[in-house]
Order: sequence, then structure tokens, then C-alpha cells
Amino acid sequence: MRESSALSRASPAMNIHEYQAKELLQKFGVATPRGKMVSSPAEAEQVAREIAPAEIVVKAQIHAGGRGKGTFANGFKGGVHLCKMPEEAGEIARKMLGQTLVTHQTGPAGRVVNKVLVAEAAQIAREVYFAILLDRTAAAPLIIASTEGGVEIETVAAKSPEKIIRESIDPLAGLQPFQTRKLAKQLQFESSQLKAASKLFDGLYRTFIGLDCSMVEVNPLVVTAKGEVLALDAKFTFDDNALFRHPEVAAMRDIAEEDPREIEAAKHGLNYIGLDGNIACLVNGAGLAKLPRRGWQCDGGTSDGSVQDFDHGQKSGGHSGEHFWWHHEVRRDRTGDY
Ligand code: ADP
Ligand code: MG
Repeated sequence: MRESSALSRASPAMNIHEYQAKELLQKFGVATPRGKMVSSPAEAEQVAREIAPAEIVVKAQIHAGGRGKGTFANGFKGGVHLCKMPEEAGEIARKMLGQTLVTHQTGPAGRVVNKVLVAEAAQIAREVYFAILLDRTAAAPLIIASTEGGVEIETVAAKSPEKIIRESIDPLAGLQPFQTRKLAKQLQFESSQLKAASKLFDGLYRTFIGLDCSMVEVNPLVVTAKGEVLALDAKFTFDDNALFRHPEVAAMRDIAEEDPREIEAAKHGLNYIGLDGNIACLVNGAGLAKLPRRGWQCDGGTSDGSVQDFDHGQKSGGHSGEHFWWHHEVRRDRTGDY
């Protein structure tokens, strides 16, 4: 699931790669295909040899979805490729590594692929969608699921909203067995698969709570030809404010995937939010982001740069003069005034 708007990112969030998400999921007993992250074609071929004779999948690792349908700037199609021979896996990795992958989530600039995941390909019989997120209105975790797996949930919501299943979870009671059974039935798992599906949902919920996630999305969650239930793709978002409780997660941060302007802002306890057009925000919260953005738009929205008003810099708790001066300097650099 994509963040709904650039502004929603004003609540700090940290992303990780699919291969890292799968490492975490395995610790919570969630079944995923075996595989390994590599950063060279030779390693890709080596890992593929360990997986063969099973079919192999090579997956570009970037902090964006839509890789399967993406295209590399060099014209190579697809950030997810199935192959039978280990040499082929090496060849595909060669075409991906160091190249820019453009998906509908990366924007036209795309992302450079520095790592690929080489994994066992699953014989997919059925794909479903399963996500857990924090429903801030209800102050409770919410499961969103759909039989339409492999498709973006936004597309399902637009085309067939009746196919979206919602299950709110009491944060004190946790995910109850009757809820996992209900979800498994709604997602049309066969009776022989109910146990595996329930175990997987349960593991995902324990991951979500245990790691202070703000979102865990598995798309697709698949049933294989043999009836196994596996998480084939995984996207996590963490609440930065809780990261100090999870050093193993904090260590997974991949700076290469982040906007250098956001990194610089984070060093000062601020959020930098690049927006379409010629306005950007530099703020310490979502509410504050909305206010100056309106102001700048009313003002004609012609200045690129950061936004934080002087009063806030002085009055709000936790922001020192140093923060203020830093944003002041950034803005002056960009606009030559202020
Ligand atoms: P993205 O969402 O970024 O496109 P996915 O990991 O969801 O990436 O992969 C896209 C599609 O590729 C999946 O919907 C699935 O059909 C296929 N796929 C991904 N991983 C595997 C795998 N291990 N085995 C078989 N098919 C896979
Ligand atoms: Mg996916």
C-alpha cells in the first residue's frame, strides 16, 4: 500500500527491503520461500545453484512496489524474473544490478538496484492480499484483506470495493482465533489450508505488534500447488518513534534508498517533505506541514525551499535554536531571502 499522500509521510516512517522483511517474518514463524540477498551476478548464480533444481526467482530490491510490472531505464522489462537455470539467474542479476528500475511507485526518476533477492519460485495456485495497519481513528490495528492478490489494494478499492475485507483488532485482546478462521474463510482458503493460513495471519500480527510496525503488507500471500501458504512479497513500515526499542530493525535502514534531504532533516529531528511542483516542507509534524503548505500555495507557490515558521521554531518544545538556524540557512540558500 502506498502512503496516501506525501503529507502523510510527515509522521516519520522507516522502510526496509523485501529480503529484510522476510528475515523478520521468519523469526515470527511466517512461511516465506527460501532465498538470499546478493549484490553481484556471480553470487546470484551461486545462490541459484543452491536452490536448483527448483525454479528460481530473481527480484530487484528497492524501497518501492510494482517491481514486477516495472521497466529498467536500459529497456529491460520486469524487476521480478522467473528462471530455471542458475546461469540464467546470474544473467538476470547482471541486467538488474546497477541499473535504474522505474515502477509506478518510484516516479519517473526510478531507483537504482544495488541488491537482488534470489529465491525459490513458488508454484502459485492462488494469490491473495493481506495487510495490517494502524487505524488511527479507532486507535486499533486493522486487517485489510482481499481475494484479489497481486493487485494493488487501491485498484481493488476503486474497481471492486465489495472485495475488500476489514477486520478490526482489539489491541488488548489481540488477534483472536475466531478472527483468523473468519478471515481464512472470507479469503476462500480450503479447509485443508485453514491451519496454515491461520498460523500465517497470527505470525503477521505478532510481527506487527512485536516490531512496532505501522504497516505490514503481504501482496501476494499465496497458496501453492501443494497447498502451502506463503508470504511471497512483504512491505513493512515502522514508526520511527519506536525504533529505539528495535536496534535490529534500525540497523536495516538503507540510506541509499532515502532522499538525502530527508536524511539531513532527520539529523535535526525534522521531516523534509518534497512535494510535486515547486514547494517543499520542512516541519516536525503533519499538522504543521499542512499549515505552511497552504500559506505557500496562497502565496503563489513559486519558491522552492523549506518551510517552518519562525514562531514555531521558537515556541515548540524540543526544537532548539540550532534547529531553527539550520532551517533558516537552508531556506536562505534556496531562496536567497528571509
Ligand atoms: P511487486 O509487488 O514489487 O511487483 P512481488 O514480490 O509482489 O513484487 O512480485 C510480483 C509478482 O511476481 C507476484 O505477484 C508473483 O506473481 C511473482 N512472484 C514474486 N515472488 C515470487 C516467487 N517467490 N515465486 C513465484 N512467483 C513470484
Ligand atoms: Mg507485491
